[in-house]
Amino acid sequence: MLTKTPKQCWEEFLHFVEDCCTATEFQNWIAPIKVDPSSIEELVLEVPNIFVQEYLLENFKKHLENFLPTNAKGELALSFTINAPKKNVVPKTSAPTPVVTNEKLHAILNPQYTFEHFIEGPSNQFVKSAAFGIGMHPGKSYNPLFIHGGVGLGKTHLLHAIGHYVQKHHKRLKVHCITTEAFINDLVDHLRNKSTSKMKRFYRSLDVLLVDDIQFLQSRLNFEEEFCNTFEALLNQGKQIVITSDKPPGQLKLSERMIARMEWGLVANVGVPDLETRVAILQHKAEQKGIKISHKVAFFIAERIFHNVRQLEGALNRLTAYSQMMGLDVTEEIVESTLSELFQKAPHKRVSVDHILKSVAVMFGVRVSDLCGSSRAKNIAFPRQVAMYLAKEMINDSLMKLAGSFGGKTHSTLIHAWKKISNQLGKDETLRRQIQMARRNLES
Ligand code: ADP
Ligand code: MG
Repeated sequence: MLTKTPKQCWEEFLHFVEDCCTATEFQNWIAPIKVDPSSIEELVLEVPNIFVQEYLLENFKKHLENFLPTNAKGELALSFTINAPKKNVVPKTSAPTPVVTNEKLHAILNPQYTFEHFIEGPSNQFVKSAAFGIGMHPGKSYNPLFIHGGVGLGKTHLLHAIGHYVQKHHKRLKVHCITTEAFINDLVDHLRNKSTSKMKRFYRSLDVLLVDDIQFLQSRLNFEEEFCNTFEALLNQGKQIVITSDKPPGQLKLSERMIARMEWGLVANVGVPDLETRVAILQHKAEQKGIKISHKVAFFIAERIFHNVRQLEGALNRLTAYSQMMGLDVTEEIVESTLSELFQKAPHKRVSVDHILKSVAVMFGVRVSDLCGSSRAKNIAFPRQVAMYLAKEMINDSLMKLAGSFGGKTHSTLIHAWKKISNQLGKDETLRRQIQMARRNLES
């Protein structure tokens, strides 16, 4: 028996979940779920179709456990009934029928993501020429083109660039660009409104389909099948498909059929750009924003931020805001002071607590065993705090684990040390230099 009414439990959960997903997600997936008013012993949810139930359990099961008690068998006091909306409840006109007009595609494509604004380098030359080839001859070269690579390396940029190019040079072709999440939402909408055949007709009438982030199709069996059918129908008609993903096809948890289709055409990787390319990207982006940064400053930043281009761009945005606000030219000093946090997040190599302990012990002339011991003498406690500060700054691990490596200290000791050293850094030039030196030694 629930201590609160099922409706109350659900409302509390709704309150919580609203902050966890986007408005579109909420509207498409959560809002259509109703509480069966006759439920007393457990929460009975009325869902419009099995996909909504699947979505809820897949994404929020753990959270539901916080809002609902368990039954005698130890299972969540929750069940579902499928209650497709009656025809007269949902007026036909509310079924979103995607119509690709030029304006609509225009709204989806990021205007900055064109081939002209894509900087080439050894890490992306191949994929860029493949994408460009497709822009020139959609459906006639590689089909599908599968672009994969890490976060922020330009996959979406290239996908949109193909969209822009086709739109400009092949005006009669019907192009559609969609994220996998939006595809799934679209499908759910059409299922709810019993208009899937309309959706099928729409997708199968396309000449070029651009799909972003296919990894979100993983473990969504029901959607995968629909997607795969659309996919095959288009490929069989020689229509162009381009897909992006954070992993190569073989590493995606998708059906063999789907993987095989994706490997049919060309699989191309977009890698992390080398230093020169990063410098060129920075300068190009700066120029787009109308700010000037010297070659030296661009190098300075690109040397320190190398994981992904989005981070590089974030750094530039921050720098622009700062220099415009203060009316200052962008110098290395300004870069260092405004971006130091971003730099710290990008250590050059994996640093361990052991490395830090050894380096700090040498620097302060103490023993590693002292740093891990419990002496509160200032000449020991201070270097220990410095080592803890460096560990928190340079190692991306749980604070509890880090603190444990200092002879079993607690995580609040580590935070206390970190705060103390952080405060002192602002006032103590010698300490700042010492820490900078330690960092450099550890990272080199
Ligand atoms: P992904 O989709 O791979 O996560 P995006 O395409 O969203 O990455 O790229 C992130 C940002 O980096 C975008 O602003 C994009 O314009 C920029 N970017 C990435 N690679 C390049 C490049 N080679 N030239 C210019 N900008 C790039
Ligand atoms: Mg992307």
